[in-house]
Amino acid sequence: MAKNAKCKYCLEEILPKSKVKKIGQKQYHAECYKKFVAEQYESKIKPTDDKSQLYDYINKLYETAEVDPKILAQMDKYNKEYDLSYERILLTLIYYYEIRESEVRKEFGIGIIPYVYKEAGDFWITSRIANERNAGINTKETITAVKCRVPKNRPKVDLINIDDL
Ligand SMILES: [Zn+2]
Repeated sequence: MAKNAKCKYCLEEILPKSKVKKIGQKQYHAECYKKFVAEQYESKIKPTDDKSQLYDYINKLYETAEVDPKILAQMDKYNKEYDLSYERILLTLIYYYEIRESEVRKEFGIGIIPYVYKEAGDFWITSRIANERNAGINTKETITAVKCRVPKNRPKVDLINIDDL
């Protein structure tokens, strides 16, 4: 009888009938995999209220010295309405502009956030698993490595001009 593979999380054998999640050479029970992802997320994402990283990114993006008050208002709005941390907003912007390589359109400020934050969240969770596999590789290289996973068909979005807010 062939030996069953072992789950990398609980180290138990994976019986032929169980639901399996394969990541590269590693195999997990589907349930164990969920726990694994949740643990990764908890351990790697440090809740931070540090706005300066986000401000720096926005200033680079729009080539400004100070963040436009309209963008600050958007940040506040998304922070309250969607319960998005400043870090989450930053990760969403990085996803949208660096990973998806979307066009920067100053007139919308960061108005794209409500449309892509969920997709960005999924992306970063997936990347974190890639990160785990390529332990030691810095974030920039990891981002390049996972670029091919980005879906090509972009959802259509109706952006709201920040002047209308
Ligand atoms: Zn398991």
